Amino acid sequence: MSKKVFFCRLSQESNSFNPDFADFSSFQIISNGVDVLSEDGKAGITVNGIYKTLNDKGYELIPDVFMQADSGAPIKNQVINYFVDETLSKLKTISDLDAVCISMHGATLSDVSDDVCGDILELIRNQVGEKVVISVSFDLHANVTEKTLKNADYVSGYQTYPHLDLYEVGVRAAQRIIDHFENGKAFVARAEIPVIAPAHAYTTSTGELKKLMDKAKAYKDSGKILDYSIFQAQPWIDAKQIFATVIITGYDKQTVLDITNELAIDEFNLRKNLQGSPLISINEVIKKALKNKTGKPVVLCDSADSPNAGANGDSATVLEYLLPYQDKLKCALAVVDKSAVDKAYELGVGNVGDFVLGGSIAKNLSKPVTVKNATVKVLSDGDFYAYGPQERGQLKKNGKSALIAVGKIYIHISYAAKTIGDKGFFRSVGVEPELMDLVCVKACTSFRAGYEPISSEICNAQTTGAAGTDLTLLPFEKRPKPLFPFEEISLSDIKQAKIYR
Ligand SMILES: [Zn+2]
Repeated sequence: MSKKVFFCRLSQESNSFNPDFADFSSFQIISNGVDVLSEDGKAGITVNGIYKTLNDKGYELIPDVFMQADSGAPIKNQVINYFVDETLSKLKTISDLDAVCISMHGATLSDVSDDVCGDILELIRNQVGEKVVISVSFDLHANVTEKTLKNADYVSGYQTYPHLDLYEVGVRAAQRIIDHFENGKAFVARAEIPVIAPAHAYTTSTGELKKLMDKAKAYKDSGKILDYSIFQAQPWIDAKQIFATVIITGYDKQTVLDITNELAIDEFNLRKNLQGSPLISINEVIKKALKNKTGKPVVLCDSADSPNAGANGDSATVLEYLLPYQDKLKCALAVVDKSAVDKAYELGVGNVGDFVLGGSIAKNLSKPVTVKNATVKVLSDGDFYAYGPQERGQLKKNGKSALIAVGKIYIHISYAAKTIGDKGFFRSVGVEPELMDLVCVKACTSFRAGYEPISSEICNAQTTGAAGTDLTLLPFEKRPKPLFPFEEISLSDIKQAKIYR
């Protein structure tokens, strides 16, 4: 008899230092998941990986509510309650359910909880009982708590950063369910390492973290384990529990425990490396752009104000530094600022005005900058299709937008720009990033997959914001102690491998 699997999705990455709250308007909500499958089928998203893998096996799939939002502020609890009510009431109507497969981000906060995913998994577990298999897929930046492992049977996280395995993580989450029914329950061990690191500072494409991922993959390829996830928690979570975690799945209990502990020590040893090299001052990046003769732009990465890391994108700090070079450097940058957009619309294309940009949302994190005699070049609804590779072909929305220019500086202003790290972002208002001398990108690491081939150099700049790169400067209040890089830690601070179910 074919197995019955319920599947759903709730995805948002929350930033504690964003002073806003995300409400229903931040979310794309699809009450019947089938729509998402047909619409985004080609974009390779996680739910498609889940669907295809289980459908190919002849499993009966019951999709329910899909809710996703871009990274941002913690979520209003009424939004979480809506997801929970929809999910639990649907689950109640299904008889003889075999499994639940959930696609989540895993670093989700609300105004009442620092562990939204753990809470939801607990509620679902209580509803379906102990026998139903629960498999969850997460982002690599998930903060995977013990509560999650007490309630979910299987946890799968992205293995790449930049994230290029959105589809594959769905396949893995689904495969755990198939393996479970074909070969029996596997052991899942989790170890906890009190380390957080700024997301701009590492990648799985090169360097030490790649070596660690490769080592884990070699264990999987050798057949010793079924699967591995090494989570670097999104670091802008001010919660009592935040850590890196290693999660290993396999059929040999001792091997699973041993490899989990071994990789946890490797992660511990990487703690300094993961913090990245020193940041470059904005002036230093400008000097590099002035000297650069490669014909490709220098990219100034303002990751501290990255909306993909939950910041607002409303800082004009880099603009302030660039203004004196407006006749020398062709620059592109973006500032989220509603009233500036409204002013551009009032003026109309071709007209000139003074604009005050920046500090419009997170007023404590950056200050306004005045731009005199800027010309309105383009007015736009803000929609564009991502070039990717990460989200290639997906429709992105910046809200009402405009392009204004002062000298050779092109400033994208919008109500709510999100995917600033995609090449299609500037292209959507007629600015070709490849032809600029300096492009300011508000993103952490995923943008590199698109930008590296078209730029001469990517510089992680010293900027401030809700996704600030120097974590020790941010106003953490609840974080655990010790936690690296705030305190030095020792091997005995690792919470050793444990099997929770
Ligand atoms: Zn991520």
